[in-house]
Amino acid sequence: MSGIFTNDNLSIFFQRMLEVDGSIDEAFGQVRLAVEDIAMDCNIGRVEAYMQAEESMLRPHGANDCRVIYEANQYFLKNPYIENIISPDGGHSKFIFYPKRHVFTECEYQVVEYISKQMSIIMSRIVMRGILNNVLVTDLSSGIPNLAGFMNHVGMLIAKGTLSKYEAMYFNVKNFKYVNKEFSYMHGDIVMKQYARKIQSLLSGEEYLARLGGDNYVAIVQKEHVQDFVKRIQTCSLTYTDGTKRREFTFSATVGIAELEDIHEPGQVMQRISVAFQVAKTQSHNGTAVFTKEIYKEVMNEKEILAHFHAAMRNHEFVVYYQPKVDVKKDKLCGAEALVRWVQNGKVIPPMKFIPVLERDGSICQLDFYVLEMVCQAIQKWDKAGFEPIRISSNFSRRHLGNPHLVEEIVAIIDKYHVSHEYIEIELTESENFNDYKVLTKLVSDLKEQGISASIDDFGTGYSSLNMLKDTNFDIVKIDKSFIPMEYDYAQKQKDKMMFAEIVKMVKNLGMETIAEGIESKEQLDYLVEVGCDIVQGYLIDKPLPEKEFAARRNHYGR
Ligand code: C2E
Ligand code: MG
Ligand code: MG
Repeated sequence: MSGIFTNDNLSIFFQRMLEVDGSIDEAFGQVRLAVEDIAMDCNIGRVEAYMQAEESMLRPHGANDCRVIYEANQYFLKNPYIENIISPDGGHSKFIFYPKRHVFTECEYQVVEYISKQMSIIMSRIVMRGILNNVLVTDLSSGIPNLAGFMNHVGMLIAKGTLSKYEAMYFNVKNFKYVNKEFSYMHGDIVMKQYARKIQSLLSGEEYLARLGGDNYVAIVQKEHVQDFVKRIQTCSLTYTDGTKRREFTFSATVGIAELEDIHEPGQVMQRISVAFQVAKTQSHNGTAVFTKEIYKEVMNEKEILAHFHAAMRNHEFVVYYQPKVDVKKDKLCGAEALVRWVQNGKVIPPMKFIPVLERDGSICQLDFYVLEMVCQAIQKWDKAGFEPIRISSNFSRRHLGNPHLVEEIVAIIDKYHVSHEYIEIELTESENFNDYKVLTKLVSDLKEQGISASIDDFGTGYSSLNMLKDTNFDIVKIDKSFIPMEYDYAQKQKDKMMFAEIVKMVKNLGMETIAEGIESKEQLDYLVEVGCDIVQGYLIDKPLPEKEFAARRNHYGR
């Protein structure tokens, strides 16, 4: 053997083997060249390679390959040397070396054995690398690709120049929690796998599905297939049985879709579909939204507001304005509404620009408490300055309804500034949700118990106004400005007047005070007085004013 090992060709063989790299096909090409160099010296006539592996998470396509790596002009199909290899995922590989002449001599046998060991090391390395590459791009719990796989695939379509033939989508499977409720988490995982496979089976060609984790998926689908695909993911049925019970589940999905024109890198795809998904989740009625440049601008604006919100709170950029309310019978100031403004670099941003954003995010609750605190501080200040006390109303978002300690927290703020509870009013808007509605009723009575007034804001624009009036013990009803008859003549004016008068009558009969919001003209005011409305608020009296200005003017209000 030592004689053969000193052979130059053998050292070239080892040199070549060290350099073997690339895909399995490339690697075998290089091995073939290496074997060719030494085949003559070692009596090698033919080399066959076999690879076999079950489909598994590690090798989703399994392996079933058989190829001839090297073949001389003539060989002897007997007396082979066989090397068996077990791959890291439990698969099997085999190299078979056939002699060129009859049989390997003892010495040739040893060399062939040595060569085949080298080959098997390389083979394992290549298989292992394939497995690792696959692990990097596979979501191991579902067996379908993960985000890295998706990005690679998009990169490949960009490189081919075919991406614009597709649309991308980001979707979240709704009601999956129900599966975990019905079965255990372990079974939930199996259903999730079935779901992923089922959705994957809807795709063909270079369409692609990936799981981002949880119930979130992304997909690339041919344009003409998008409508059908979305329909299917919005009504995907699966039947599952764990041996004792059988259930049929129908899953729907929230979907953000984007066209893929003018995309230069995979990150842009994720950006577009995430934006569309965000809109689908928060604003769409049918659970689907399509990316547009306008949506992008809106979402970026929303992100910017949220990104600056906490710093703005710390820097006291939120400022409270006060809009007077006048008692029409006594013809004097009886209260004011606190309305927040965001003063950013000297510019006053109106609430409609940021309140809806903070409402969606939930940060509004923090702001409402802050405004109430500013209100209490102002009341304390005015009290010390000798002003006659008036009731100040603070707007509280519906997002507070999930807070079981809301009343305690409100009371704690009021008490911190030693403000008498009767001078605080909490304005709440109507609720569209029946559960909220019950909570609202309880909240109002809890506030009342604490001596704090509660008013229903924008009355008439919400959902279940009349029921709410009957069941909820509000102290004050603020009739929305859209119900106030206009001062000029128009076709519906008579009807508007009648309706307004009836609302005022009904509210008063139920024992509540009425406030008319948004009064802009003398004629409107006269009409309100005529129908018996108690309190008015609007530009006719004054606009919302900064605290100091309001304090300076408050002794001069009257009709
Ligand atoms: P809102 O509570 O119904 O407040 C009345 C809105 O009508 C205010 O708008 C006020 O400036 C405006 N307004 C008053 N008089 C007139 C009038 O004569 N004509 C017209 N056209 N408008 C009048 P603003 O200040 O822009 O506030 C808009 C909304 O933002 C408020 O409606 C309220 O829903 C919300 N908001 C304001 N501050 C807060 C707050 O601190 N917390 C919460 N949750 N919401 C707030
Ligand atoms: Mg209000
Ligand atoms: Mg209002």
